[in-house]
Amino acid sequence: MDDYDSLLNDLYSKLPKKKTSGERFELPVADVAVVGAKTTIRNFDAICSHLRRDPKEVAKYLFKELAIPGAFEGNRLVLQGRVGPKPINDRIASYVKDRVLCKECGRPDTDLAQVERNVYALKCQACGAKSSVRA
Ligand SMILES: [Zn+2]
Repeated sequence: MDDYDSLLNDLYSKLPKKKTSGERFELPVADVAVVGAKTTIRNFDAICSHLRRDPKEVAKYLFKELAIPGAFEGNRLVLQGRVGPKPINDRIASYVKDRVLCKECGRPDTDLAQVERNVYALKCQACGAKSSVRA
């Protein structure tokens, strides 16, 4: 076994380092402001680029999960209701778990593609694993 392990280690050390976004994925934190009857996520654009996801897709997920409609205002997302930071960050965390992190290796270097009306395919660029996600 020792020989096999050292062989593997040797092999891995020779592999070219993959271009990924780092060992540990940092969950983005929404910068939330409640003004009047509306809630604004001020760093929505930054969150989506961190997740490497289409803001429209992430917004659709949030509207559905929070059961609140909303609209874009520049780089911000405005929800038509009062929502605290906790429910928003919880939904972002579940979005990341469901639709960003690879089910096999846990890395965030994945692509999401819609394959059917309610089915998405998640493909990992780090390990090549594919999984399907239901909307
Ligand atoms: Zn993977």
